[in-house]
Amino acid sequence: MRREGAHRSRLPYTPPVPRSQPPAEQASLAVLGRTIEYTVVRSHQRLRTLEISVRPGEGVRVAVPAFVPSGEAAALVRRRAAWILARLDAFPPAPPALAPGSQVPYRGGFVRLAFVPGQGPLLHGAELIVPLAPGAHPPAVEAEVNAWYRARAAVLVPEAVAEWAALMGVTPRAVLIRDQKRRWGSCAANGTLRLNWRLVLAPSAALDYVAVHELAHLRHRDHSRAFWEEVTRWLPDWKSRRTLLSEIAFRQVPS
Ligand SMILES: [Zn+2]
Repeated sequence: MRREGAHRSRLPYTPPVPRSQPPAEQASLAVLGRTIEYTVVRSHQRLRTLEISVRPGEGVRVAVPAFVPSGEAAALVRRRAAWILARLDAFPPAPPALAPGSQVPYRGGFVRLAFVPGQGPLLHGAELIVPLAPGAHPPAVEAEVNAWYRARAAVLVPEAVAEWAALMGVTPRAVLIRDQKRRWGSCAANGTLRLNWRLVLAPSAALDYVAVHELAHLRHRDHSRAFWEEVTRWLPDWKSRRTLLSEIAFRQVPS
């Protein structure tokens, strides 16, 4: 069951979910002294007018009804150029490609990547050793780092939950690690807890908060006063712990 609550947070570093791919063509237009690259997407749906969108990771897209010529997309981009450029300029810069020496977040701090073929992934002091050659392609590096995050989450998250469950005197039916796009955790009606693997990016104080929050739902299914009293009983400083979560959401993380 979905739980509405303050522990939910947007995770801006999560890449957009790929949409189903209608036919698309790339185009560009010189306007206002700059070049706007855009994608024209032919809509199979009942689109009646041209629609323009500008999103991080997706760029400028113009959805065009099937019967409208492509030239009208260019005309729309030209008309709305100032708005498009302002939106593009407002995007956060893309995170740099991961390479030896890159810092990646972990448990509220950062660890530095080191590439050693045949070794790792393992954490050695503040160094995360991954089994890659120094010139490895960024997607391969991201895959290694992500797999390591998830492996750490599979250990650290159930550990924290078990510790708090024992203290609080509750027993979840199961603890599952999930790749949730917009939630840190949830508690199902049957007592199953689902927690986001990205919690290993946060300080342990924040992980503890999410664990206590979801475990408290085993007693109180809502966000009533009684629920928050239960949370406060175990973590009087839960508000500052929750703030830590919103801070990590803004760090640049390999997707
Ligand atoms: Zn909740």
